[in-house]
Order: sequence, then structure tokens, then C-alpha cells
Amino acid sequence: MSTSGMQMWKNERQRIKHIAEDYLKLEPELIEELTQCKTEFGFFVRLVRDNGIVEHLKGWRIQHCNPYDTGRKPHKGGFMRATTVGRDMLRAKAAIMTWKCAVVGPTDEERIQFGGAKGGLCCDPLQYSESETKRQMEGVADEINPIVGPTWDSIGPDVAVGPKEIRAFVTRYSRLNKDKGIPCGAVATGKPLEHGGGGCPGRIMATGLGMHFVYEELSRIHPFFRNMPDRPRAIVQGFGQVGSAYAILAEQFGITIIGVSDIYGGIYNPNGIDIQKLSAINKKTRRIDSYPEAELVSCDEFLKQECDILVLAATENVLTEKNASLVKAPMILEGANAPTTPEADLILRGNNQLVIPDILSNAGGVTVSYFEWCQDMQGKFWREKEIKNELKRYMVGGARRTFQTSQKFAADLRTGAGLSAITYCAPALREKHGFKKSPKSLV
Ligand code: NAD
Repeated sequence: MSTSGMQMWKNERQRIKHIAEDYLKLEPELIEELTQCKTEFGFFVRLVRDNGIVEHLKGWRIQHCNPYDTGRKPHKGGFMRATTVGRDMLRAKAAIMTWKCAVVGPTDEERIQFGGAKGGLCCDPLQYSESETKRQMEGVADEINPIVGPTWDSIGPDVAVGPKEIRAFVTRYSRLNKDKGIPCGAVATGKPLEHGGGGCPGRIMATGLGMHFVYEELSRIHPFFRNMPDRPRAIVQGFGQVGSAYAILAEQFGITIIGVSDIYGGIYNPNGIDIQKLSAINKKTRRIDSYPEAELVSCDEFLKQECDILVLAATENVLTEKNASLVKAPMILEGANAPTTPEADLILRGNNQLVIPDILSNAGGVTVSYFEWCQDMQGKFWREKEIKNELKRYMVGGARRTFQTSQKFAADLRTGAGLSAITYCAPALREKHGFKKSPKSLV
């Protein structure tokens, strides 16, 4: 069990408790429900490596809570492969998914009524061949089959799990459940579009696009943006599904990318990086350091580079009390889940740096996953234009509500987003369990 995972779950529970108890004065039994995970399923995948050696890889699928009593809407959350995967880290990330779904939506009532979940396999994805990775995902489907399903828990892409891995999972799940008469494809989103993969147009770019929609809306209404230049310069940590989508779309949103990093290190050029060229290099070499027209910097140095926006799109806990004070960017946009520890958050706030929090800014992924799930359940394909328009409505609504809530409670955006989410979930959960509302409770 990793200490940082334990710390993440402790931090997340404290944060929920602080919002639910101190701001919203919710009943203790409701707070207890919100700060626990309902289902925690541990398993081993038995993997025969290409060389015949057998490994047992530990994994979990965790369901936080599903406040909505609709009977058909599942828990939702990604499935990741990383050495940092552990039960506590997944608990924290499952809870984050509950809030994320409840933050976005075009109107106060119309939000994503999914419970939160997260899963993962503890392994170093770089050590496995394509066929071994496929067998890993088939093994995951075999093991978590009893606790997932289109109306119970639907997985999605995450670190080192993209369309290919999702396809392997869905194909196996569909074989295991072919006699049950259920729309098996809805057991996962982020499926590939091509070759009848059942995916949804726009899912690959959804998280990055959603981040731009949030930024755009906040730039219209948040006073902090008055000091931003007309053409802001951003550096992006992580060049995977989220980071590369954000960087590719930046140009059309009037943002210049001047630095990019991946797990091996960063590149920086204050005059701008050619993202098309970088993407081609990354596709070929699976890293970015052979990009010719930029200075090479270490992962640690990268976070300290001059820029207007630091985009965190790699992994959790990258800004801590040790390095937060070294960040020069006035604004931090969180594409990754939980990239900033609470201690780092305090330092950034103290230095008047604005953090646009994960549960709002990266919710575009789960929003388009919701559309893909609807598509599977209805057996009707959505067009890309329709998806982009709807995504914009969901993200703009979420950004506006987060800002208004933060203003109303004189709080930062992270607290505003948490307040907005819990204000939506808590009464639904109270109703579902038949709890009595305390006269002190504000919602
Ligand atoms: P990915 O595996 O596709 O890419 C991760 C990228 O980060 C890679 O370029 C990797 O080299 C880099 N990286 C990893 N550790 C790093 C480090 N310490 N320093 C610098 N770079 C590092 O993963 P992804 O799907 O893009 O997910 C990234 C983050 O976004 C995760 O926190 C994930 O939970 C979150 N997220 C993903 C989605 C999605 O749809 N994929 C949606 C919402 C949030």
C-alpha cells in the first residue's frame, strides 16, 4: 500500500468532510456515506508473458457511491495501469469521479447522474508487449465481470489504458455475457471508433477540449483573467491522451504551447513548439526528446519554466509542498486527477496563483463517456458536431456554477466545485436512504 495513496485518500476524505460539515452543515450519517467507498473489489490477473513466465498482477475496482436512485445509471470511472496503483489511491479517485459527474451539466438539474468509480492494475505498462497488454485487459474483464455491467459500473480510459485496451476488455466482457440480453458495449467507454469498435466521435479529444471550454468560460467571468495576455503561453506536463489533445487544440483557442514534458523529461522553447511535428515524433518514438528546436529540461526543472499557464496532464501528486513555491505560472490548469496536494494548493493560493481544479477542468472525458454510454444504451450514434456542442454546454454550465458557488462562499475554485457537487449529490443520497434532514443543513 503506497503512502502517497494513503495520504491521497486521507486528504480527499478531509476535503469532503470540510465541505459537507463546515460549509453545508450536513447530517453525520450523510457525511459518513460520502466519505466511504461502497464496494472494493480486489483481484489478481494471472498473466502468461510472451516468454512463458507467469506473473500475478494485483488490481482493484472501487465504487465510491451512487447517490441517484434511477436504477439504470451506473458507476463510472477510468481503469488505469501504473506502478502507483493501490487501493487507497483508487478510493480517492473513485470519490473524485462522483464529484466530477455532479459538477458539470448545462443546468442546475441536468448534470451527469453517475456514481463514481475507479479501477487499476499495479504494473509498469512500459514493460509489456502489445499482446501481453491485451491479455492483461482480458484478464481484468474475467476478474471484474461480477461487479461491472452497463447499468452497474462502466469503465473508461485512463493512464496507459486507451481505445485498444478498452476494446480488448469489451470484447472479452461481451463474450462472457452474450446470453444475458444486455447492451454489453456500454460496460466501457472510450472504445475505438474504427472497425466497428462502437466508440463515440470526439472521445479521444474530449478531456482536452473540455479543458479549453472551461478556460474560455472562466476567462469571460473570472476577474483573475484580466491580467492574462491576449495570447497566453502554456507548458503542458504529460503528452498522453489528455496532454496531447489539449496541446493539439491549443492553437485554435489562441494559446501558444511553449513547453511539453513526458515521463522522460521536457522540451521548452519560448517561441513555441510545433505540436503537429511533436505528435509525429511521439507517434514514431513514443517519446518527445528528439524534437529538434527546443531546449531539453528535466521533469523537475520543467515545472519551474516561465509561462502563463501550467497544464498538469500527467499523473497525481506532482505539485507538493516541496516544489509548489517554484512554479512561476500564475495559473494552473489541472488535466490530471489530483495532481496538486493540499499543501501545494495552500502555497499556490498564498502566492495568488489560480488553480482550475481537476473535478471541473478534466470532466470533459467523463462527459463524452456519458454521451457514449447513452449512445450504446439507445443503439443510436451521435454525430461529432452534436457531441462537441453538448460537451460545450456541459462544461460551460459547470464552469459558471463553480465560479458562482466560489463567489457565494468566498472560497477558491476547488472548494466552489466541491460545494457545487455535494450540494447536488447530498439531497439525492438523503432521499435514496430515507435519512431525515437536519434543520441545520443548508441543502
Ligand atoms: P496517458 O498514459 O495517456 O499519458 C500520461 C502522460 O504523462 C504520458 O506522456 C507520460 O509519459 C506522462 N507522465 C507520466 N508521469 C509523468 C511525470 N512524473 N512527469 C511528466 N510526465 C509524466 O494518461 P492520460 O489518459 O493522458 O491521463 C493523464 C491524467 O489525466 C491522469 O491523471 C488521468 O487520471 C487523468 N484523466 C484522464 C482522462 C482520459 O480520458 N484519459 C480523463 C480525465 C482525467
